[in-house]
Amino acid sequence: MSTRGNLFIVSAPSGAGKSSLISALLKDKPADKQVSVSHTTRKPRPGEENGVHYHFVSVDEFKALIAQDAFFEWAEVFGNFYGTSRLTVQATLERGIDVFLDIDWQGAQQVKKLMPEAMGIFILPPSREELERRLIGRGQDSDEVIASRMAQAVSEMSHYTEYEYVIVNDNFDEALADLQAIIRAGRLTCAGQARTHGDMLKGLLAD
Ligand code: 5GP
Repeated sequence: MSTRGNLFIVSAPSGAGKSSLISALLKDKPADKQVSVSHTTRKPRPGEENGVHYHFVSVDEFKALIAQDAFFEWAEVFGNFYGTSRLTVQATLERGIDVFLDIDWQGAQQVKKLMPEAMGIFILPPSREELERRLIGRGQDSDEVIASRMAQAVSEMSHYTEYEYVIVNDNFDEALADLQAIIRAGRLTCAGQARTHGDMLKGLLAD
């Protein structure tokens, strides 16, 4: 994939505050950043809109998309399928826009294989107790779902070492500042600058 934008992977156990951090990052609709809207077979939660939070599809539709090789990566998470559209990510990066993939560790591993330059960011909660408190506080899931998500969280968190950056989301504003710092630093890597300023560098280095 030839790109001008940078690809960031953001993973976390549910309840670590990942969605809130990404929403805050994109609050003013910055022209240079976009979150990829995944396809999922999960049912919408209250307040979730088709095409905004996810593209909600049936299992058959999802399987047809797999058969068409439409996904950059896909995985089964908590018994539902989730996948990232290959074409959308590619087209957005080609326009020089940074893309944020809010995906789990299984998807992150696939993306790193395909695009090693993608930068992985893992968000951790400050403690198990706080994670559980946040999951209950959301009030969106049943006790059974919360218990299963707590168990899944521990296994998800064990993958934090596979990421380049780790944010501990204790204080939200600090975590957001950390995320912004990572994005800025990620853009300033040699490879990132070569992508963004390819033409300028050619001009500078021409004989
Ligand atoms: P939720 O159902 O709470 O929105 O998301 C559950 C998990 O699925 C989260 O960890 C989220 O990051 C992950 N997820 C969402 N979209 C994708 C995707 O396109 N691919 C993969 N691999 N995981 C995803």
